[in-house]
Amino acid sequence: MHRIYLDNNATTPVLPEVFEAMRPYFGEQFGNASSIHHHGQHTRAAVEDARESVAALLGCRASEIVFTSGGTEADNLAIAGLIGAGDHVITSSIEHHAVLMACKHLEETGVEVTVLPVDGRSLVDPADVRRALRPSTKLISVMMANNETGVLQSVEEIGKIAAQAGVYFHTDAVQAAGKVPIDVKRIACHALTISGHKLHAPQGVGALYVKKGTRIAPLFYGGRHERSRRAGTENVPGIVGLGKAAQLAKEALDRGDDKKTAAMRDRLQQGILAQVEDAGVNGDGAARVPNTVNIHFDHIDGEAMVIALDLKGLAVSTGAACSSGAIEPSHVLIAMGLRPDQARASIRFSLGKQTVAEEIDHALRLVPETVARLRELSPRYKRQAVST
Ligand code: PLP
Repeated sequence: MHRIYLDNNATTPVLPEVFEAMRPYFGEQFGNASSIHHHGQHTRAAVEDARESVAALLGCRASEIVFTSGGTEADNLAIAGLIGAGDHVITSSIEHHAVLMACKHLEETGVEVTVLPVDGRSLVDPADVRRALRPSTKLISVMMANNETGVLQSVEEIGKIAAQAGVYFHTDAVQAAGKVPIDVKRIACHALTISGHKLHAPQGVGALYVKKGTRIAPLFYGGRHERSRRAGTENVPGIVGLGKAAQLAKEALDRGDDKKTAAMRDRLQQGILAQVEDAGVNGDGAARVPNTVNIHFDHIDGEAMVIALDLKGLAVSTGAACSSGAIEPSHVLIAMGLRPDQARASIRFSLGKQTVAEEIDHALRLVPETVARLRELSPRYKRQAVST
């Protein structure tokens, strides 16, 4: 069976070029980047090259990049590193748990947290950000692109509000990096998070951009790695992989490959909506990253759909996650105003650099037939169909 992977917002396959770039650092190039001998010098040079590539993707200086173990650590570093007891932070209800839970934890230590609502397209209103400012506000953290809907926030406008108020602005760009151009100067952010495994580098590596002059407290204590912003021996193969993936992502964006991805995504979206009734796009009407579409198929169970499609060789994900043994509807979809049953009936399709047109054709055959089959089995759908 040819397996089709349309769950690239969960994780992406490592590109062959990325894997080849990393390979020597698992073998002959094994040095600790802090060692001063030949082995260390070689890996140090590789880490610094990778830093340049990541900086080029984000439009910043290499010295402003801090390598981390991934997006979660970078989000936590940005939040816990910039605020403390007595400070106020403004964030939004659709943030990744890496941000929401970091804020929740800090609340227990005396930080005040405002969680802003979103509209039906999952957009934060910049006017709400402005209204939420207090004299004690130290940080605004609003994501650039949402992992479930792909919706892009008005980060430049929020950056302006932060600058006018003289507060820090952090944006989680994990789902934006490599998909849309990013320029930290235009966003006017002080910190920005990326994660390797969402842009075809390996899992377990990420980076935080920290604007020059921004004082950030480290999360852990140890050596003076990463200019004392992140202690711990560098994950050299991972960092080299992230650097190569950043370079390839920048080249692809410069070539306009994102438009090809958007065209495939749009064909998938339109094809599904043309064939399936009682379905709609979550976040419709808002600007989105080019690879994502999230659709609610009323009267189906998203988990059953994911399993049925997986049996046919198509990998997607649902707007519900298993937490403590129960299926919880996604906090993002609920924050947008979906009913819990609609959130549970939502499926996210996310394309990657490896996605080809034939796979979209195949998905367009599989999805409508699977929805029809699940609805046939659903007594609720039949009852509704008879009564209308
Ligand atoms: N932020 C967003 C928006 C994400 O989608 C993810 C991963 O799903 C993360 C943060 C966490 O990144 P990582 O998996 O590298 O810890």
